[in-house]
Amino acid sequence: MEQLKEILTEVNNVAVIGHVRPDGDCVGSCLGLRNYLELSAPELQVQVYLEPFPEAFSFLKGADTVSHDTADGNVYDLCIVLDASDKERLGGFAGYFDHAGKTVCIDHHVTNTGFAGLMHVRPECSATSEALYMLMDDAYVDRQVAECLYMGIVHDTGVFKHSNTTRATMEIAGRLIEKGIPFSEIIDRTFYEKTYKQNQILGRALTESVLFMDGTCIYSAVRQKDLDFYQVDTKELDGIIDQLRITKGVECAVFLYETAPQEFKVSMRSNNVVDVSRIAAFFGGGGHVRAAGCTMTGSVYDVLNNLSERIEMQLMDAGLR
Ligand code: 5GP
Ligand code: MN
Ligand code: MN
Repeated sequence: MEQLKEILTEVNNVAVIGHVRPDGDCVGSCLGLRNYLELSAPELQVQVYLEPFPEAFSFLKGADTVSHDTADGNVYDLCIVLDASDKERLGGFAGYFDHAGKTVCIDHHVTNTGFAGLMHVRPECSATSEALYMLMDDAYVDRQVAECLYMGIVHDTGVFKHSNTTRATMEIAGRLIEKGIPFSEIIDRTFYEKTYKQNQILGRALTESVLFMDGTCIYSAVRQKDLDFYQVDTKELDGIIDQLRITKGVECAVFLYETAPQEFKVSMRSNNVVDVSRIAAFFGGGGHVRAAGCTMTGSVYDVLNNLSERIEMQLMDAGLR
């Protein structure tokens, strides 16, 4: 695919779906696409479906039009899936995908399983928002579209610092800045700003973090009782894994939070050698070489034992153990 308009022929209505537990790139790309289609193809009916997302993203145009309804009975000519590497990532919205006339997936995960009718997967792109911009006609990228895509790129690159940031990323970000977006505010308000209780749980997670494998790895786990105590939602835990990753001497960081009794959402980050996407994919998840995740069951120690076995294999292959 060279341009988005190629997939829009003979299409009257479109469902746009992101992944479960939507992050900045997911929300940014879904709303960016919605706002772009409103300008470039005004005759199209577009509905975005997403799970509830962080309040900080709600300033984006179209945020108030997002549906959380998993079964509203609507059937679409086209379903566009953004930032999701496999069908399980669609969660409750998979029905819209299954019943749509045509399906397209625009994504940037190396672990993408190729589940849609038409696949546009660009692992070289820092964010789905970046891959999406490349499919757009810049003439229809207004300030509101730019705000969405910029936010997506900012989040997946950790404000242009992760190794997925390329010259193309910076050039596209530059073009988006030229649209007159309040970029400093987007970065501060959606990425760095934390509520008091978010800071408290970050502090707790760092205090309780544990180095293992001679300090090459670190983990921290947040249980349901901690979430209850600090009254934080699992949507508000962003940033904890990033802080763990930059601990001096650490190659691989693991963050767990409890989603149900004996069930944990796992986030992994690595700095130089460990391909965490392989580990996540092994346990049924996916992601990128330096950032990946999955869901695992058992106690914290079961989960860590299983993960550290796979991490250690890679550290040994790299001669680090
Ligand atoms: P995070 O740790 O920030 O939740 O996710 C890091 C990366 O891994 C993101 O690109 C995200 O899409 C991917 N990821 C996280 N959890 C899962 C999962 O359960 N399944 C898959 N396929 N990818 C995941
Ligand atoms: Mn994502
Ligand atoms: Mn992404």
